[in-house]
Amino acid sequence: MLTERYRLLVRLALMLVIGFLAVSLGAFWVSRDSLRSSLIDEALPLTSDNIYSEIQKDILRPVFISSLMANDTFLRDWILAGERDVGQLARYLREIKEKYGTLTSFFVSERSANYYHVGGVLKQIRPDEPRDAWFYRVREMSAPYELNVDPDLANQDVRTIFINYRVLDYDGRFIGATGVGLPLALVAEQIEAYEKRFRRRIYFLDHDGRVVLAAAAFRREGASIHETPGIRDIAERILQRDATPAPLEYELDGATVLVNARHIPELDWHLVVEQGDSEAIGPARRALVLNLGIAALVTLLVLATVLLAVNRYQRRLEAAAATDPLTGALNRQAFDVVFNLGLRETQRNDQPLSAILVDIDLFKQINDTHGHLAGDAVLRAVADVIRGQLRDTDVMARWGGEEFLVLLKDCPLGGAIAVAEKLRHAIAEHDFAPADGSGRPQRLTVSLGVAARCHGDTAETLFSRADRALYLAKRNGRNRVESAEA
Ligand code: GH3
Ligand code: MG
Ligand code: MG
Repeated sequence: MLTERYRLLVRLALMLVIGFLAVSLGAFWVSRDSLRSSLIDEALPLTSDNIYSEIQKDILRPVFISSLMANDTFLRDWILAGERDVGQLARYLREIKEKYGTLTSFFVSERSANYYHVGGVLKQIRPDEPRDAWFYRVREMSAPYELNVDPDLANQDVRTIFINYRVLDYDGRFIGATGVGLPLALVAEQIEAYEKRFRRRIYFLDHDGRVVLAAAAFRREGASIHETPGIRDIAERILQRDATPAPLEYELDGATVLVNARHIPELDWHLVVEQGDSEAIGPARRALVLNLGIAALVTLLVLATVLLAVNRYQRRLEAAAATDPLTGALNRQAFDVVFNLGLRETQRNDQPLSAILVDIDLFKQINDTHGHLAGDAVLRAVADVIRGQLRDTDVMARWGGEEFLVLLKDCPLGGAIAVAEKLRHAIAEHDFAPADGSGRPQRLTVSLGVAARCHGDTAETLFSRADRALYLAKRNGRNRVESAEA
């Protein structure tokens, strides 16, 4: 029974665990996939779009201003006239800077190698000076302008996006480079904000894959993605010059990082937005943990409930199997077990043990006169009266049709005779419910046979002595107690 119960519980637990796991994990996988795909299809591209349009806004205006400067007849005439009045050019540059709110404005002359800014001549550029390399690059390039990020010497080396526009004379010959610069701070601020709000990493790469701009907390600027673990696996694909954002991913430390990369043609940079897969699916994982917790609790509750129910049911079955349904006294099989235990115990401890056999006098008459059901009611009532006279340690059984056997532990023959007398009186004085509908209570008597355990007694020898005593009581006129010595 124990192993059967154990098996039932294990089977139930298994079914619950498997069911809950399937449901919880299924829900987790679905929501993880939807979170993941919303990150890939919506969130990351949206961030990329927003930053890109911000950049365009920031950059297109200065490109336009630089284009105006490069085509300005005043500027070109001033250069071709021999760069004579520096004050005139400085005033011009200051006008541009103030009118358009740029960080800086400049002109570098091909002929004199002078670097002009709002304060006049800032310096002379030299081919061997790395900081001036941009000019020699611009001089050789075929595009009308380039964007370049450098520290601005004229502005405490603030990192600046310079628009370097080629200035040509009226015959198309290169005579210098002009343009404006705008601080990267605006773009950088926005990157920081995005990073903080969405925990997404945002940075820009140049065409070689080096980080040119990133929020302070992240990737060292100058680091190349070709050498960075994880992302180097997809470096080639990030650095494709494709203006449409490409969804990519790479593995780092066993976790997946989702990436959105796009080329920004205006800067020839690549904008990279990335987020750890685990951050994105955090809510799904929290829900999974919660679900599993609830599932474990429900499993435990169900198992506890089932265990309680099974135990209660089993107890009821056992009680039903052991008692006589009519009188509630022990049935004969159960009594045999109890009696043999008691017999062995008292033999071992050398304690007295007595049995009283009770038989209702002339019971057949009750049946015959009032019917079998009335007889049953009397049987129940007699059992109740006997029970009412006994101690907790005494055991009563229904021995036969209208015979009861009472077992008295730790009670010698004399004590048992006294108990038997007590029972006889109690029944003789009891008003049994009227069975004939007359309203007059009926009286009845019992005869009792008492025997005490002797040395070497078995169940049979003890009961046959009690039986003999009962027979004696009947023969001697009923409503009496007789005992039988060994
Ligand atoms: P006495 O014992 O005094 O000699 O007379 P008696 O009439 O009681 O005789 P006996 O013990 O032989 O009768 C037993 C009767 O009890 C026979 C049977 O019909 C009746 N009986 C046995 N079991 C049941 C029962 O469960 N319900 C009812 N109503 N009657 C029962
Ligand atoms: Mg009888
Ligand atoms: Mg009888």
